[in-house]
Amino acid sequence: MKNIKYYAFPSSVKEALAVLLNKKYKAMALAGGTLVAKTLPDTVETYLDLKNLPIKSIRLHGGNLVIGAGATFDDIDRSKLCRGWAGGVISAAAARCSSQLIRNMATIGGNIARPHSFNIFPVVLLGLDAKVRLQAKKGARLVDFQDLYTSGLGLRPGLDSLITEIVVPARTKKWKCDFIKLAKTASSWESYITLFFSAEKKGRSATQARVVVGALSPRPFRAPEAEKAMLSGAGGQAAARALAAELEAARAGEYRSSAASSLFKRFIEGQI
Ligand SMILES: Cc1cc2nc3c(=O)[nH]c(=O)nc-3n(C[C@H](O)[C@H](O)[C@H](O)COP(=O)(O)OP(=O)(O)OC[C@H]3O[C@@H](n4cnc5c(N)ncnc54)[C@H](O)[C@@H]3O)c2cc1C
Repeated sequence: MKNIKYYAFPSSVKEALAVLLNKKYKAMALAGGTLVAKTLPDTVETYLDLKNLPIKSIRLHGGNLVIGAGATFDDIDRSKLCRGWAGGVISAAAARCSSQLIRNMATIGGNIARPHSFNIFPVVLLGLDAKVRLQAKKGARLVDFQDLYTSGLGLRPGLDSLITEIVVPARTKKWKCDFIKLAKTASSWESYITLFFSAEKKGRSATQARVVVGALSPRPFRAPEAEKAMLSGAGGQAAARALAAELEAARAGEYRSSAASSLFKRFIEGQI
C-alpha cells in the first residue's frame, strides 16, 4: 500500500484497460477492495478502481444467466434471476459469505480473479460449467471457468486483463444443486471443506452429475469417481464411498472425508 502513487476512476472498460496496459502506471484492479488491500504486491503504484464500470448487471442473454463481474455478493443473494436458477444455489452460496459488511462490498469478479482455498464462487462456478468473459489487450475472450487458473490462459486478471462477466449456461437452469460450507461458525471465511453437488434427473436416474470440492487447495476440483457412481445409479452408499476414497487420496483427513461423504449421501437420497 505504501507504494501507491495514483488512484484511477475509469468509467468504461476500454479506459480501465488502457490504464492497466500502460506500463508507466504499474496498475492493479480494485473492485470491492476487501482482498486486494491485504495482498497488494509492492510493485503496484496505481489503484485502478472498477466501481464506475458498467459491469454490475445480472441478466439473461440467449437463455444464459450473465452475472456482471462487479455484482456484489449481496446483489447476487438478492437477485431474482439468481434465486430462480438451479434451485437458487448461486444466491444461497452468496449468502454463506462470512458477514453482511463483506457481502455488501465484495464482488464476484474479485472472488474468482485469483485462486484462494476458501473462496465460495470458484466451487459453484466450476460445478455449473460457467464461462468467464475477459477483456485483454487482444480483445474479449470467453474462457471456461475450469481454465481460468491454468498457465495456458496466459493472462493475469487484475494486472493485464479484466473479468467483465460470468456466463452460466442455460442447460444448468433446472439442475438440482446444493452448496455446503462446513465451517466452525457461519461468520468464518475459513472452512473445513466446501462442496457443490448437482444432478439433472430423468425419471429416477441422474443424467448429469457434478461433485466439486473446495477449501482443500487454492483451486477447487471435481471428484470424477463420485460423479460416475452417482450416474451409475449404484445408490447413495456406494457414491459416498467413492467420494470418501477420492478425498482420502487428496489427503483431506478423516473428519472432512467422512463429513463430506455423509452430506453427499444425503444429497443423493434427497434428489434421486
Ligand atoms: C474479513 C473477510 C471475510 C471474508 N469472507 C469471505 C467468505 O466468507 N467467502 C469468500 O468467498 N470470500 C471471503 N473473503 C474474501 C474476499 O472478500 C472475496 O474474495 C471478495 O470476493 C473479493 O472481492 P473484491 O471485489 O473485494 O476484490 P478486490 O479485493 O477488490 O480484488 C481482489 C483481486 O481480484 C482482482 N480483481 C477484482 N475485480 C476484478 C475484475 N473485474 N477483473 C480482474 N481482476 C479483478 C484484483 O486485482 C485483486 O487481485 C473475505 C475477506 C475478508 C477480508
